[in-house]
Amino acid sequence: MSKIKAKYDVIIIGAGSSAYACSIRCAQLGLKTLCVDNLDTNTSSGAFCNAGNVGMITLLESAKLYDTLLNDIDSHGIFAENVSLNLPKMILHKNKILDEINHNVIKIFAEYKIDFINSKASLIAPKIIELSSAHSPSQQIHAKYIILATESIPITIPCTPIDNEFILDSTAALNLTKLPKRLAILGAGVIGLELAAIWNRLGAETTLLEAQETFLGLSDNQISRQAYQIFTEQGLELRLGARVISTKIINKKVLIEYQDADGTHAIRVDKLIVASGRKPNSESLSAPEADLLLDENGYVHVNENCKTNLPGVYAIGDLTLHGPMLSHKGMAEGVFVAEHIAGIGSSSINYNIIPNVIYTEPEIAWIGQTEQALKAIGDRINIGIFPLSINHQPKSVINANGMVKVIACANTDTILGVHIIGCHASELIAQAVLAMEFSASSEDIARIIHSHPSSAEALREAALVIKNKGLNS
Ligand code: NAD
Repeated sequence: MSKIKAKYDVIIIGAGSSAYACSIRCAQLGLKTLCVDNLDTNTSSGAFCNAGNVGMITLLESAKLYDTLLNDIDSHGIFAENVSLNLPKMILHKNKILDEINHNVIKIFAEYKIDFINSKASLIAPKIIELSSAHSPSQQIHAKYIILATESIPITIPCTPIDNEFILDSTAALNLTKLPKRLAILGAGVIGLELAAIWNRLGAETTLLEAQETFLGLSDNQISRQAYQIFTEQGLELRLGARVISTKIINKKVLIEYQDADGTHAIRVDKLIVASGRKPNSESLSAPEADLLLDENGYVHVNENCKTNLPGVYAIGDLTLHGPMLSHKGMAEGVFVAEHIAGIGSSSINYNIIPNVIYTEPEIAWIGQTEQALKAIGDRINIGIFPLSINHQPKSVINANGMVKVIACANTDTILGVHIIGCHASELIAQAVLAMEFSASSEDIARIIHSHPSSAEALREAALVIKNKGLNS
């Protein structure tokens, strides 16, 4: 065992989006920073950036272009003949984008003089990590602060052993170079729905098997109902209350058994994608003698400043139970912790105001509370809904389905939640984030002049409806 002389202020374990944001902010604040991760540099998915998210968005965009050319463009007076799919090229395009992002991160790290070591690392005591690699002797490195940012990994379930040939995890599901005729996806959560939006639009007959009886239980019920209807109309087969209990590979097909209220059923598909949720990547993050406090599900215990139970050790991103498993939440924590360590004391993170986005077609985005949650606690609320089919801007784009729903407190008019399904929802929600961060009322939004025609004015229209002043409804 060799020791590297202490020379770092901060060591960040992990190289995902939280670690990336944290490393850069630490370096900007003059802290000598080391980032360590065990990356598979032979593949684009073993990358610095959040390869899953970027890969997903890139393929979603490709699938949307393909589907639009095939099915939706004629009404614009554009006729595309002989449209065909070159899947290997589409995957290559996605990997090229991931490589570009990787190179960019390497360049930025070099500019900020952030050191990077490609190795497995674990915390062995406060301020000490140990690097272990198959090719070199293990070594220890000291730093004043250690930030744990190893994010999350897919939850595996015994009845769906991943072989990445027939039963795929969500990473392999972004690298298929041959279109499956019949595809099943276990789990209709965010990842399952986004993967379904890719493969269904590229032409695979796609069935989602979801154990829960409710569809998109975390989002507003009215939005989930509309999403269910739109996705079903798009040809997605959504089986709710369907728990997968066994799988077998027979003659190069996957035989899936699932149980629902009517009993046990079987379907045969070419591929099964498992999107059964994610868990914190904390299994070999610390040695037992380090005494890092985890809960029974592997989440690292942290206080409101992202500090663990060990002095000088912080945890950010998907590793903690604070807020949802979202890259932007982890990135905000990364910046916060860097500033906390540097003593410039930025205000703590408002976990109540974190936008959620599902990049399906149409997109779904929300912030704040749902109608059902507010009613359950007996809050008096006013609701304004604006259907996007009335909005002038979405009319000119291809998919005009959807709605914007604004929920405000009946007493103070403060906005408590905004829920959107429709094109540009991921962009439109940013207005609501800003409004809620500044405790705006629905009247504030209604009084702001928006450009016309634009998708953005749909939020104002929904706010106007709350005061019965809607211009278009
Ligand atoms: P999820 O928990 O949202 O969904 C997993 C689903 O699998 C659940 O609904 C569960 O009921 C179902 N399931 C589990 N076992 C099953 C079985 N045997 N049979 C049938 N269904 C079964 O998890 P996810 O979609 O994998 O996402 C994981 C996390 O990553 C989430 O917290 C999500 O917010 C986050 N994430 C978000 C984004 C985004 O915001 N765009 C993108 C990627 C990941």
